[in-house]
Amino acid sequence: MNELRELTAAEALRRIEAGDLDSDELFDAYAEAAAGEELGAYLWTAEPGSRGAGGEPLRGLPLAVKDIFCTEGIQTTAGSRILEGYRPPYTATAVRRLGEAGVRLLGKTNMDEFAMGSSNENSAYGPVRNPWDESRVPGGSSGGSAAAVSGRLAPWALGTDTGGSIRQPAALCGIVGLKPTYGAVSRYGMIAFASSLDQCGPLTRDVADAALLLREMQGPDPCDSTCVGIENGVELPSRRDLAGLRVGVARDFSHEAEGVEPGVAAVFERSLGVIRELGGEVGECELPHAEHGISAYYVLAPAEASANLARYDGVRYGMRAGNGDLTAMYERTRSAGFGAEVKRRVMLGTYALSSGYYDAYYGTAQRVRTRIADDFAQAFEAFDLIVTPTSPTVAFELGARTKDPLAMYLSDYFTVPMSLAGIPAISVPAGLAAPPGGGPELPVGLQLTSPAFTETKLLDAAHALEKAFAFEGRPS
Ligand code: GLN
Repeated sequence: MNELRELTAAEALRRIEAGDLDSDELFDAYAEAAAGEELGAYLWTAEPGSRGAGGEPLRGLPLAVKDIFCTEGIQTTAGSRILEGYRPPYTATAVRRLGEAGVRLLGKTNMDEFAMGSSNENSAYGPVRNPWDESRVPGGSSGGSAAAVSGRLAPWALGTDTGGSIRQPAALCGIVGLKPTYGAVSRYGMIAFASSLDQCGPLTRDVADAALLLREMQGPDPCDSTCVGIENGVELPSRRDLAGLRVGVARDFSHEAEGVEPGVAAVFERSLGVIRELGGEVGECELPHAEHGISAYYVLAPAEASANLARYDGVRYGMRAGNGDLTAMYERTRSAGFGAEVKRRVMLGTYALSSGYYDAYYGTAQRVRTRIADDFAQAFEAFDLIVTPTSPTVAFELGARTKDPLAMYLSDYFTVPMSLAGIPAISVPAGLAAPPGGGPELPVGLQLTSPAFTETKLLDAAHALEKAFAFEGRPS
């Protein structure tokens, strides 16, 4: 394997700055690898040699972008048939900002259709395979981005996270994934799934790279009125200890929760030991409503999705099935263009919002959401950070959960509450564990969360832990 592709983005940047590495050579090494990859991670890749500019400060580093971000003139499908052939007339703010900061677009990555899924098996363009074990899923919905970064097919990537779609695939692929605070990064040009939850963020080889990418992409945007940016910006992490930090663990929302694999629980317990060794003070906190996160999320997210997806009607974007009668054309287009999971969510959401049921479902779910946010606010009075496993399990076999949507939904048990509360959360590789049926060890992630807009502190703590974990694992 090309040794250039082993460098983190920050290491590559240092070499480019020192004149030891040519950024065009780096770009071409990745573009060639991405064009020939067999994981199914990419839906489109840049031609080697077709590089575009690339100025300061990121000096032409290649970036993989989830295919949910609009990119001017380049097909953007959100993993759906219904957007096949859609070439947006503009570029999403986050991608545009990174371009202005000097990155060059390496490719568009595969994903679950409209970001609905936890395994990347809901893509209309085929599944993605986990580089650690190709019979297993990379997680989802940003599975293409996670597999590309972990499989050395991109130095770093952008993903989106509505209920866990950056953090869970990062954990399953042994890389870092950060969901920023809701409102830190613009959603303009990011194809909407559930607008009150969607945030974009970095998937990277280490925490410093996540900070580097977030620093350039965050900030207010006149095109997204919910985006205020992080007031004092983002500093690159330097912390090596956790002295003085109070770290909360919620008994019913940790390694002791039902369904957590023993290997995952063991890595989590070891992580608590490392936190103590670094000077952190571990204590028990309470998040009494967090366990209801999944139930509330699967009312709220489909409700918003059913409204957001109404725009795909065969008239405005992408594919159209049949002509003639308008209503029949809508129906044929949506029947042929959407996959099974998307249809399930549109039906769930439409039902939850229908008059007579609105308050019983949507209203109740909103009240649960408020309780969950209040729980975190209260816990953060006594704790600086809260930690959980990122995923209850290691990467599962392809097909293992496709017949059982509920089992699939539970993949996000630990990640959904932070999305509902709008707070930042990061997954850091914490160790390896054997899957329950035996076989080679697979990555396990530790999730850290902190109050809204405290990304600098969160990244610093994650950086200290990452150094102490010294996770050297990489797919063979
Ligand atoms: N797996 C969750 C879902 O299917 C979360 C997806 C996401 O964060 N985009 O909705």
